[in-house]
Amino acid sequence: MSLIYPRACEACEALLYKHEEMICNSCLMGLPKGNFHKHKNNIVLQILGGRVPVASAASLYVFEKGGKVQRLLHAIKYEGKQSLAIMLGKLLGNELKEVDGFCNADLIIPVPLHVNKLNKRGFNQSEVFSKGLSEALNIAVDANNLFRQTETSTQTRKRKYERWENVKNVFELKNKNALKNKHIVLVDDVITTGATIEAAWQALKEVDGIKLSLATIAFAEK
Ligand SMILES: [Zn+2]
Repeated sequence: MSLIYPRACEACEALLYKHEEMICNSCLMGLPKGNFHKHKNNIVLQILGGRVPVASAASLYVFEKGGKVQRLLHAIKYEGKQSLAIMLGKLLGNELKEVDGFCNADLIIPVPLHVNKLNKRGFNQSEVFSKGLSEALNIAVDANNLFRQTETSTQTRKRKYERWENVKNVFELKNKNALKNKHIVLVDDVITTGATIEAAWQALKEVDGIKLSLATIAFAEK
């Protein structure tokens, strides 16, 4: 098949060798890693500081405008490359296998899309990424309990307070008791201001004894 349809790297578009899958080895080695889980006071925890009590935070990559990580995210989100999202989830999961705050968590919960958006796109990229993470860490995914109840409008031009107004009460839980005393890993595709995580926390904090860690495909400086 590869003679008829040569496969290209999703990050740099170079042709792949037989043993390479979706991302060429050179990109795999060179893509900018987040590595936040290796640092106790990392930038993601600083951004969320005081707003959301996150125990541990991890991002696979650091996003740069026009860079390879942006290309990967684009391929997942707009070209429907779900297997790429699974592969990235496994990559991060393998890095977190022996990291406290992740390997001992009870449940992985992807940040949900609103049902209208889900129907339009056909899948939730955070949920697909979660599947790869789940396989590597051997932790179950729960993609049903947390749901997005209102659709948020585009947030790019909004000021911080308006942005906050825009996301509060966005998420709800179907069954609080199911998460009681559980350590969950909340998964999103990209974290920037933390507004989405903060909004999700408004729903999750109603659960007694819940502990939260955070995993994303990428971190993007605003
Ligand atoms: Zn490449």
